[in-house]
Amino acid sequence: MIPQSQYICSECGKRYEILPEIMLCPDCSKKQQPNEPLRGILEVEYSPLPGLRPGDYLPVEPRFFPQLPVGNTPLWKTAISGTHRELYIKDDSRNLSASFKDRASLLVAAFAIRHGISEVAVASTGNAGSSMAAIAAASGLKSTIFLPEKAPRAKMIQALQYGARLITVDGNYDKAFDLSLEYSDKYGVLSRNTAYNPLTIEGKKSAAIELFQQMESLPDYIFVPCGDGVILGGMYKGFRDLLRYGFTERIPLLVAVQAEGSAAIFNALRDGKFHPVRSHTLADSIAVDVPRGGYYALQQLQRYGGRAITVTDTAILIAQKKLSGATGLFAEPAAAAVYAGYEKIRAELPENARIVLLITGSGLKDIDSAVKELKFPKKALSKIGELA
Ligand SMILES: *Cc1c(COP(=O)(O)O)cnc(C)c1O
Repeated sequence: MIPQSQYICSECGKRYEILPEIMLCPDCSKKQQPNEPLRGILEVEYSPLPGLRPGDYLPVEPRFFPQLPVGNTPLWKTAISGTHRELYIKDDSRNLSASFKDRASLLVAAFAIRHGISEVAVASTGNAGSSMAAIAAASGLKSTIFLPEKAPRAKMIQALQYGARLITVDGNYDKAFDLSLEYSDKYGVLSRNTAYNPLTIEGKKSAAIELFQQMESLPDYIFVPCGDGVILGGMYKGFRDLLRYGFTERIPLLVAVQAEGSAAIFNALRDGKFHPVRSHTLADSIAVDVPRGGYYALQQLQRYGGRAITVTDTAILIAQKKLSGATGLFAEPAAAAVYAGYEKIRAELPENARIVLLITGSGLKDIDSAVKELKFPKKALSKIGELA
């Protein structure tokens, strides 16, 4: 059994039926200016039912969900020397397509199946695309993926390998976003664009619910990598649902970690408004000029006392290497950024704080970045005596 649900506008509070043709609040989206985050982001609201578990609060009935290993990812306590006693890793590189994005793709696929839709389109820096391609393939759906021409090759290869139609875009992610929306409108295809399709936020909340289930009590701090701000918004949505439907009593402090060269949400939290940025960072998954979920993320950070911090690309690469060496977990740069962020403010956090690093993607998706911190053997060995 699932509860009754509807969309509610995060700006004006108007409510709408959950239908494939409704993506943004029709009223608030009229105020959309170019080069600003999306206006009129919708979220799912439920009528609470006694006896339901947290995972039952979904807008699509369980029978429409493809049975795939998405979510329920491992959480473990690290033992990195000099860090907090309770420093946990939530390892979302262990999803089907090796990134957090599968959480949103799965709900979007279930929704498409429920409504008899056969094709899903998405713009992506790489992971949302390879994720949608994987989940669509496994669900009998067609997928069309718009990626910047310069997206990491492994992410493109994943999309192709899963059988998606891959469209590379002459421009950055922001351009891919616009083109993919034009495509979905023109051909009547369901868009999985992040923040734009409200189910992307709703799908991502499952990680918050799992933390509630996996830990005896909610953590104090969660470090979340942040580009468009939808993982952040989705985590808040999960914690707010837990609070609202009576499962918990508080919301953890979320720390949004951005790359110094792509810090629109960090800037907005400091200045109270968004200004355009020209993003430049090797952490491709958090490289965005206009964070599509920016207003929504900012609203949550302000309302619940969240923080935002930035880290340099150098700090990200060092953190990536250190995390691999200390934990065995090879995270992609955007994900390793949270460890860099933790290291940056570690001394400010109470000694007994319980801290979670949300690791969102696998390092194998972008080996060209990691290689910058590594030394390859110079010469192939032929005799053991040649070893220095
Ligand atoms: C998409 C992504 C992020 C950032 O999520 P946003 O919703 O864009 O803030 C972080 N890490 C990885 C690995 C991602 O794929």
